[in-house]
Amino acid sequence: MADFSGPLPGAEPDSAALIAARPHLTMDAEKGLMLEGVALAEIAADLGSPVWVYGADTIRTRLAALRAALTKAGLGGTDIHYAVKANDHLAILAVLAAAGAGADVVSGGELARARHAGIPAAHIVYSGVGKSFRDLTLAVSEGIGQVNVESREELAMLSAVAVAAGRQVDLVLRVNPDVDAKTHAKITTGLAENKFGIAWAEVESVYAYAGSLPGLNPVGLAMHIGSQIVSTEPFDTAFARMAGMVARLRAAGHTISRLDCGGGIGISYEAGTGVSLDDYAGVMAKHLGGLGLHLMMEPGRWLVGPAGVLLSSVIIAKKTGNRDFVVLDAAMNDLVRPAMYDAWHGIVPVAAAVAAGPQAPVDIVGPVCETGDTFAKDRLMPALGPDALVAILDAGAYGAVMSSTYNARPFAAAALVDGDRWTTITPRQQVTELWSRETVPAWLTETAGETG
Ligand SMILES: *Cc1c(COP(=O)(O)O)cnc(C)c1O
Repeated sequence: MADFSGPLPGAEPDSAALIAARPHLTMDAEKGLMLEGVALAEIAADLGSPVWVYGADTIRTRLAALRAALTKAGLGGTDIHYAVKANDHLAILAVLAAAGAGADVVSGGELARARHAGIPAAHIVYSGVGKSFRDLTLAVSEGIGQVNVESREELAMLSAVAVAAGRQVDLVLRVNPDVDAKTHAKITTGLAENKFGIAWAEVESVYAYAGSLPGLNPVGLAMHIGSQIVSTEPFDTAFARMAGMVARLRAAGHTISRLDCGGGIGISYEAGTGVSLDDYAGVMAKHLGGLGLHLMMEPGRWLVGPAGVLLSSVIIAKKTGNRDFVVLDAAMNDLVRPAMYDAWHGIVPVAAAVAAGPQAPVDIVGPVCETGDTFAKDRLMPALGPDALVAILDAGAYGAVMSSTYNARPFAAAALVDGDRWTTITPRQQVTELWSRETVPAWLTETAGETG
């Protein structure tokens, strides 16, 4: 997949092309790279690096564009539930909640975050292949809008929870349409061999079973075939199959009023445009528009991915054998996507004068003791000396949420830009916080011979 292995060597977009393809980024001759109206150098000077920076207005604009495309296709009533796992920062959730988005959560923790950010429980759907009894109890007691159930076993559990709480729970069945999303294997979820959803051949019997259980109100179907899907073709196939299943279930006497189309819309990590929203909405309308369904979708990456950058400074530029390396102060513990999914991210120098310099191929790596800690190989870059600041682009989704403190590297800081203003939304973690929740058993430190 082009978006994962990246463009062919020599065909990679340069800084100017990367910036030109992203309306929220501009290069100011004096202030350097700007996100919306704020100079990224100013944020790094204040907060240090590495630091995540997100653009609130960029997220709002993207949500509005998605809504406009749906409306244009005659699907204006579609409910958008933001997939919290893409970026669960409270400030990001607050931006989306204020713009009227609901949430799609996959754990009790995400449910609590979404509620804490002010998203009403009725606007939250709960997905996931392994919801615990405890998390389902929390969701039902909060009055969750919908549970996307993935198995017969989960139906029995949810029914018991609903009965104990004295509530009627709206649910849809997440079905597995057995469609190849043609994306990276680690984020393909809609093939029969994947762990997700109810097998196609069993949908009718499981739907009937759901209707027979007390406390449950089956109202429709859900699908989610994968993430970073860069063509409409897999959606076309999947939506056609879903429409067929809706017809079959209705013919069997079931009421099917909702259909949750999941997430997965891909973005261009390069200088392209990504999936056309008009094409996506058109495919949705073609198969699902005339069926009298309340449609829903769960985009994550598409809304927030391009809206974030990871700013990082060069620690050292070194030559090893015949290879040139630039070692950044960001690493795979901050942004794991290159190591985990072979993801290609644009990397742009923040200073205009640096960005304009002559280019040569370098490997851009982090300081973690693993070869996988590589952001880019043979990337054509201008000379980057110590302390040069770079922006790793499109880091707003599956970035900070997947961070760890591996190599005892504290979690990075984060800032939110909104037009011309910005503020810190997460301070850098202190090194002492790394062990603040750890204890050493007293017996390990007792002096020999001492009596207790
Ligand atoms: C991850 C996920 C999403 C969001 O996927 P994106 O590719 O980020 O749009 C939506 N729904 C479900 C059930 C998911 O697991």
